[in-house]
Amino acid sequence: MAGKRKPKIFLVKLKKTKGQQREFDRLSVSLRHLPENLSRITITCCFCRTVFRPDWFKEHEPSMTPVKPKFEKKGVEYKGPKRWILRKVPQKCPKCGTDVMIDLPVNKMKTKGSLFGDDAERNYQNKKVSIYSLIGTDQSLLPEFENKIKGLKQKLFPSIPPDSWKIHMKDMWAGYSRKKHPVYKNLGFNDVISFVNELLMLIKESNLFIYNIASTTVQKNTGNRKVQNELRNEIYILLVLNAIEEWTTKNAQPNLFFDSEKNSQENVIIHGWARDIFEGNQHSLLYGFLSKGIEIPEPKFVSPASFPGLEMADFVSFTIARYYLRMWQGKEIEIDPKNMGLVTYLGYDSNGDLLWRRQEGYPWDKFFH
Ligand SMILES: [Zn+2]
Repeated sequence: MAGKRKPKIFLVKLKKTKGQQREFDRLSVSLRHLPENLSRITITCCFCRTVFRPDWFKEHEPSMTPVKPKFEKKGVEYKGPKRWILRKVPQKCPKCGTDVMIDLPVNKMKTKGSLFGDDAERNYQNKKVSIYSLIGTDQSLLPEFENKIKGLKQKLFPSIPPDSWKIHMKDMWAGYSRKKHPVYKNLGFNDVISFVNELLMLIKESNLFIYNIASTTVQKNTGNRKVQNELRNEIYILLVLNAIEEWTTKNAQPNLFFDSEKNSQENVIIHGWARDIFEGNQHSLLYGFLSKGIEIPEPKFVSPASFPGLEMADFVSFTIARYYLRMWQGKEIEIDPKNMGLVTYLGYDSNGDLLWRRQEGYPWDKFFH
């Protein structure tokens, strides 16, 4: 065991290789929403005393992520936990051009956990809602949560191994797809309802972190693939960063897993758009403040329902998507999000501003739909 290391301060002058420069030029910071507590931060120029706001969304030269050293010493590859953490970032004074240093927050990582994500969409008349959900817990509580999910599955089909089939709510809920499903076909609607109630109860009593974001667009804007992709990218990264902000505040590192929606031989499927948006935004000062010096692994896209948590993420997204559809149709709500307990709901108001509510029950009248 190496002795306890003293933190050292390094000053880094970056000189990028051509490849790194190309990558830097290709990536961009897409974030446009600033949390309220950060919007109050100002810097005073040490030279001309001008007070100004940091440029939160500029693509800074260094990524704000901790860096792992490559070598322990010359020729010896480094394998330990040590990281180089960025402590200060220069901000240009708008009046005199002096580089003024701003301190980045640095929290110590004390625990880890996992969050599982899935998306959903519903169309109604000329409107469409796009949804992402994340659900998860600290690593110390995860095995118990996963076992309880398996337990509920086992109870629904006692003679079928619970790992051999997946919860996919859309197929289970609708009669016509249920009848065609190799496992669900013998379920009646009442069986589905009582299973749903058990899932709701499990979520509520498990004290989980649950995040949901919904965004409604009107049809004339949604025909365009590029606009659609931008919308998906935005709600994806907003949800991810919101979770990162809360977890790093609690000195925890979130490990994020998303349902890749396509089967693959690979354990992890690379989604170029998700990688680009995550890496691009890591160059913003905002990311430095949200991640607080804690290394956040790139979110992984994995085979559909390959973790029990992903099945629960499917359930959460289905519940909110169905809620939108039923509200639009003016019909009774069958699965009330209130029964999931506390959820962090993100959405947009009619001005396009991002709103944040942690509450029991869906904040329908706060969001544009
Ligand atoms: Zn100045």
